[in-house]
Amino acid sequence: MSDFRAIDKEFDKKYIWHPYTSMLNPLPSYGVTHTDQNKLYLDTGEVLIDGMASWWSAIHGYNHPKLVSAITQQAQTMSHVMFGGITHAPAVELCKKLVAITPEPLNRVFLADSGSVSVEVAIKMALQYWISKGNTQKNKLMTAQKGYHGDTFAAMSVCDPVNSMHSMYQGFLPEHVFVNAPRAKFGGPVDLAELEQLEQAFHTHHREVAAFIIEPIVQNAGGMNFYNPTYLAKLRELCDKYDVLLILDEIATGFGRTGKLFACEHANISPDIMCIGKALTGGTMTLSATLTTEKVAIGISEGEAGVLMHGPTFMGNPLACAVANASIDLLIETNWQQQITRINQAMSTLKRCEALDEVTNVRTLGAIGVVEIDKNVDVAKIQRFFVEQGIWIRPFGKLIYIMPPYITPTEDIERLANAIYQAIEQQQY
Ligand SMILES: *Cc1c(COP(=O)(O)O)cnc(C)c1O
Repeated sequence: MSDFRAIDKEFDKKYIWHPYTSMLNPLPSYGVTHTDQNKLYLDTGEVLIDGMASWWSAIHGYNHPKLVSAITQQAQTMSHVMFGGITHAPAVELCKKLVAITPEPLNRVFLADSGSVSVEVAIKMALQYWISKGNTQKNKLMTAQKGYHGDTFAAMSVCDPVNSMHSMYQGFLPEHVFVNAPRAKFGGPVDLAELEQLEQAFHTHHREVAAFIIEPIVQNAGGMNFYNPTYLAKLRELCDKYDVLLILDEIATGFGRTGKLFACEHANISPDIMCIGKALTGGTMTLSATLTTEKVAIGISEGEAGVLMHGPTFMGNPLACAVANASIDLLIETNWQQQITRINQAMSTLKRCEALDEVTNVRTLGAIGVVEIDKNVDVAKIQRFFVEQGIWIRPFGKLIYIMPPYITPTEDIERLANAIYQAIEQQQY
């Protein structure tokens, strides 16, 4: 592994957009030449312990031989073929697996290309369902503040209206009904008043609401809020009572991250529509899916349009499906629950940060660890420090958080936690 191509970082800086960055004054980009297990290798020689799993996705770590082999074999057989009027084994096998591992009665699958697109599809499903039923009043969504559902337009319209990166598009986006962000914390007491307020909102708005959309248990990009499962159970009850569909966005939480295969299992409920993505292909390729029930799927198809109005060019991409199959098999074969428990225990070293004045809260759930501090971090500064310490973490706002690959050795979790402690203690943010 020596012959890596040089990275033209000057070109990158001047001409290439990175997520949420300026073209005038971009944050620095580190050049990565290759990856292996839970490590990123920089072109400048540093080896970094990965605390991000490439945004929740690389659950098995990088370059897992089973995933690499699934991709190479599929590439030799068929990289892509259109899904219109054609089907293939990797897609059929994947959809069977998804139906098997997701909660009943989710059994109809739409394959899409990214998380945001799966949210668009979920919203279309909900709107089309009610139109098909002859109900044209239900043309809004209801959602909680502090949510994050992606960067495309319909997805943006249900992100937090104030603190999301999308508030500048306000006049351009459809207006939905927002309720307070869930308050009662995971593992803490139930807040009956907030459940009562939620019911009030349903009572007031249900006639115009097609669906309630929320991230189950963990509101991630909106503040890493771990909320009480009773909130979710109440939502299910209210959706049934008031004829509103429930959309759960499991894009970040799916595939074991919170300690359950899907986070809605913490509340023993299942949605009418579920979005999955991120870890679906083990962090190798972009793929997402929107699952729904027979009731919704048939409902849509009985309508005047008769079809679901969506069909991306790369729908059901065989390469992505093949590696998703391998990733799910790997997850089920390995003792993922034990891995998550081990990581969660190792992350208790984060608790040491509570002793620091600047730290307002430390919390963990499954393989997610969060340290909240008293001011917004200087991302460039703290990342430089982390890279010097040999770790990769990308904080946002007041949150320094980790969601490492499940295969991360215990001592590497401790190194991540120690580096966070040191960054705060030495004011490197
Ligand atoms: C990442 C994410 C999305 C968007 O997925 P993309 O693949 O980035 O489009 C939507 N919802 C949640 C909860 C996410 O974490």
